[in-house]
Amino acid sequence: MTDEIPFWKSKSLTEMSPSEWESLCDGCGLCCLNKLEEWDTGDVYFTSIRCKLMDGESCRCTSYPNRWDFVPDCVQLTPEKVSELEWLPPTCAYRLVNDGRDLYWWHPLISGDPETVHIAGVSARGRTVSENDVDLDDFEDFVVDWPLTVEDDMLPNPPAKS
Ligand code: SF4
Ligand code: SF4
Repeated sequence: MTDEIPFWKSKSLTEMSPSEWESLCDGCGLCCLNKLEEWDTGDVYFTSIRCKLMDGESCRCTSYPNRWDFVPDCVQLTPEKVSELEWLPPTCAYRLVNDGRDLYWWHPLISGDPETVHIAGVSARGRTVSENDVDLDDFEDFVVDWPLTVEDDMLPNPPAKS
């Protein structure tokens, strides 16, 4: 048993090593969904349309190391971007740490299991379509609010068994 404070509680985003930074991503896939921005207000809306490189089941990027060869506008998260991007989901670990909050029980760094993010229902698994299969004119029909929703069973501790 160790009482060492985990890195996401003891370090700021800017202090993390590259491997710590990468491990902070919970693999939810929400940031890889297409978003629509209102031209006049700047409001951003999530859609259930995933990037063509995102695997709909694993929610992982299928070409992460060379993704910019295929998706030049893929956003590289940085500590500065985490502060700037208002659309980052409320469950995103980078947002949580940046806001001084702890990770949820289902984060793989807490649970030790990369599946818990899917078990908790917080990921995009199984509820997206590929952008390759949707006409750009129809994107508005796929606007969803679930990437921005935090349900009770996502709270910092797992729901009690009844
Ligand atoms: S929303 Fe955050 S935690 Fe989820 S995949 Fe994107 S960067 Fe990772
Ligand atoms: S290129 Fe990869 S990391 Fe970037 S949005 Fe697409 S699936 Fe996500």
